[in-house]
Amino acid sequence: MIQAMSNRVLVIEDEDRIRQFLQRGLAYENYRVEVAADGPTGLALARENPPDIIILDWMLPGMDGLEVCRRLRAAGPVPILMLTAKDAVGDRVVGLDAGADDYLVKPFAFDELLARMRALLRRAAPASPEVLKFSDLTLDTGTRQAFRAERPIELTAKEYELLELFMRHPRQVLTREVIFDRVWGYDFGGESNIIEVYVRYLRQKTEAAGETRLVHTVRGVGYVLRDE
Ligand code: CA
Repeated sequence: MIQAMSNRVLVIEDEDRIRQFLQRGLAYENYRVEVAADGPTGLALARENPPDIIILDWMLPGMDGLEVCRRLRAAGPVPILMLTAKDAVGDRVVGLDAGADDYLVKPFAFDELLARMRALLRRAAPASPEVLKFSDLTLDTGTRQAFRAERPIELTAKEYELLELFMRHPRQVLTREVIFDRVWGYDFGGESNIIEVYVRYLRQKTEAAGETRLVHTVRGVGYVLRDE
């Protein structure tokens, strides 16, 4: 599989827990990540070495996210995704008026953040959709269509997200925690067999014509996409 050159993302967020969560998660997704814990530092980093995309918290010490956003916007066309606990329509309009390209309300699912980032990056630099391949399995991220060799596979939204996660991390053991974070969000309650249920659906669909198993269980840990 050919890896696209990784995008640089700047995360401006004062809350340690969320900043570290984003730093780890985005690095794991092959983004090159820089972080700042306040507005002025973020602004300086963005000017010094312009990133491909910025994740910007609204409530920041020193200079709030709106002011950072206005100044960044004046400096160039980098896509800005604003994070906020505010979800009132009026606040959303103010954020978009200040120049944010998109807006995500906390708490959010990591997978949703990734999807929004990809959409913003695509808009910024239109690229052809990716076709992920592993063994005889193909996944087109543009049409969201999967194939096992020539056989088309119909996927629901969550099945697609789970399969895309596996195909972006082939031969890598994904823990239950990582899968929860990516597909269902860090807020999702833990005591559930939802992963088992969705892995079973994926297996049924990817093995429907008697094909070999690709999604394997790693007992006590999680799952891995591999062929043997
Ligand atoms: Ca904050």
